Amino acid sequence: MARPTHFTEALLLRSVDYRDADRIVTLLSRDHGPISALARGARKSRKRFGGSLEPCMLLRVELAETRGDLYRLASAEVKHHYANLASSLDSLRRAGAALRTLRALLPVEEPAEQAFASTLELFEHFDAHGSDRWQLLAFQFHLLALAGLTPDLERCDRCGREAPASRAVLLDAANGRVRCRDCGGAALYLCSAARHFIRAVTGPTFLDVEAPDERAWLQARGALEGLTAQHLSLELPGDPMD
Ligand SMILES: [Zn+2]
Repeated sequence: MARPTHFTEALLLRSVDYRDADRIVTLLSRDHGPISALARGARKSRKRFGGSLEPCMLLRVELAETRGDLYRLASAEVKHHYANLASSLDSLRRAGAALRTLRALLPVEEPAEQAFASTLELFEHFDAHGSDRWQLLAFQFHLLALAGLTPDLERCDRCGREAPASRAVLLDAANGRVRCRDCGGAALYLCSAARHFIRAVTGPTFLDVEAPDERAWLQARGALEGLTAQHLSLELPGDPMD
């Protein structure tokens, strides 16, 4: 009896060769989050999936359930090719880092519709306007926020005193909160511009924000590294053009 198949939109996260003729693809799917699927014959014949198994393409895929852990990729077609993105080395490498971030952060086979929509938003922006390194960082903070790890930069975790918006804060990456100097302070210094950037990109929009200057970018980058290392034991990709 034929097993049921599902159609969904997807982005290719990774593709590895398997046996003589096949590939195992990791996809970020709109409906099921990250999944792995066996693409039979994908190595032997490029026609088999119409050249669709490339990064930077929005795909419509048909997934067949199997007895094992993997889906079978029954069909795949290109819905949209981000051609400008793919022709810019900077954008292509930043998009690759964004995909590696998704693979590192998202739990397998858990629906991740917002992360999927945000990834398309990032790719559309890269495709239309080119990329900047702060946009990759903004996307990574945005995913961290979706995972429920938005740092609280507003009040001291000990005495509860509010930090005025125009002031720098000291962040403790281990608990994702700030501590005032009177209470002993914390290791990561965030100037008011870095603080403002992090607050903006962990809100509802992550691209419609002012670009941070070099200093704020470096401090925000350090905060992301500290938070992901402490809470997720992860090292996220840095800007590939650095
Ligand atoms: Zn305090």
